[in-house]
Amino acid sequence: MNFTKSQTLFEKAQASIPGGVNSPVRAFKSVGGTPVFIQRAKGAYLYDEDGNRFIDYIASWGPMILGHAHDLVVQAIQQKATESTSFGTPTELEIDMAELIKSMAPNVDLIRMTSSGTEACMSAVRLARGYTGKNKIIKFEGCYHGHADSFLVKAGSGLATFNIQQVPGVTAGVANDTLVAPYNDLEVVQRLVAENKNEIAAIIIEPVAGNMGCILPEPGFLEGLRLLCTQENIVFIFDEVMTGFRLAPGGAQQRLMVDADLVTYGKVIGAGMPVGAFGGKREIMEYIAPLGNVYQAGTLSGNPLAMVAGYTLLSELNKTQTHYNELDEKTLYLRGGLDSVFSKSGIPYVINQIGSMISVHFSDRPVTDFASAASANNALFSKFFHAMLRRGIYLPPSAFESWFLNNALTYEDLDLTILAAGESLLEIQ
Ligand code: PLP
Repeated sequence: MNFTKSQTLFEKAQASIPGGVNSPVRAFKSVGGTPVFIQRAKGAYLYDEDGNRFIDYIASWGPMILGHAHDLVVQAIQQKATESTSFGTPTELEIDMAELIKSMAPNVDLIRMTSSGTEACMSAVRLARGYTGKNKIIKFEGCYHGHADSFLVKAGSGLATFNIQQVPGVTAGVANDTLVAPYNDLEVVQRLVAENKNEIAAIIIEPVAGNMGCILPEPGFLEGLRLLCTQENIVFIFDEVMTGFRLAPGGAQQRLMVDADLVTYGKVIGAGMPVGAFGGKREIMEYIAPLGNVYQAGTLSGNPLAMVAGYTLLSELNKTQTHYNELDEKTLYLRGGLDSVFSKSGIPYVINQIGSMISVHFSDRPVTDFASAASANNALFSKFFHAMLRRGIYLPPSAFESWFLNNALTYEDLDLTILAAGESLLEIQ
């Protein structure tokens, strides 16, 4: 496969854009080599500037659950764009969107749109602080909630990819208000809460973590956190930016049957447009301005193009359970195929999967938290990544990211992927 044009563009990009990219993980720094410059995409395929075609397992880091340039979404955006790209006034479409989300997602009485997942998480935490009158939050090592200051402590994903331990620019004061526990370790959370009695405003968690590869909550973990939050008047925030509308119409709350007080969304909710949202129980959401004094705003929040794209995609997902069933079946098929070629290779591996989120860790022990994800052979993952890329399979360029399946993938695509994985494993051994 030839990447000449991508190489030329990457050199050019670095002259004007920091590191040549507008979001760090895109730079391929952890896996090495030149990022692939994509020109267009349709369905399950990405086409790069050199004319190569890839089967896509990033799905724009989650949003493209039904594949790229979905006809209904494209038509809706095209039609809406003729009416102007932004008004900065309320629109009926925003009510439609809010009502649709409420009908799909549990525990959402009120919902506020933002323009990114970061804003949604940042605002949910501010709201939790305003509501409880407490300052500290607990997050989990390896969970990423966007790049707001209070989350950039042991934040997995991009930071783990670049081995950034402490982020310059985040003040000690902010960092001190963020307490960190290992994922799946309820006892540590219980101890932190006891040691900081009446000081914890919120516990924020990815109910299924996708920013240290895919890591599932162990039985009882989320339920234990739920109970603790109820007992201690702590706002339980599910960051469903990845899992929302992906694991089920009602996200992880529905799939795992655990209730949150506040939920944040992004990715699928915008069908690839810049959208996020936070919502939850009325009693808490009423603290947001203009109802309450917790200020939160956005010039482009509820933007008509973003709303129509998200509304169209969510409506399609909400029509039947078929998309979710098909995605689950396809992901299980991929998992089975990968299992078979990995076990033949003799290379230690762990596959974690739920719904259409899956990741492979080159590890000989279960991967249940950040420490176990970080101790995997991530250098071998990098070789695997490139071997797959050369065979036309586009995986996330970091071992600390979940793969996302989209429902435009065919079983032939999955077979090609499994075949490529078998060949790649032979090549990297
Ligand atoms: N929360 C989670 C779980 C995420 O995975 C991300 C982004 O990857 C965010 C929040 C931040 O979303 P955004 O990149 O839209 O700001």
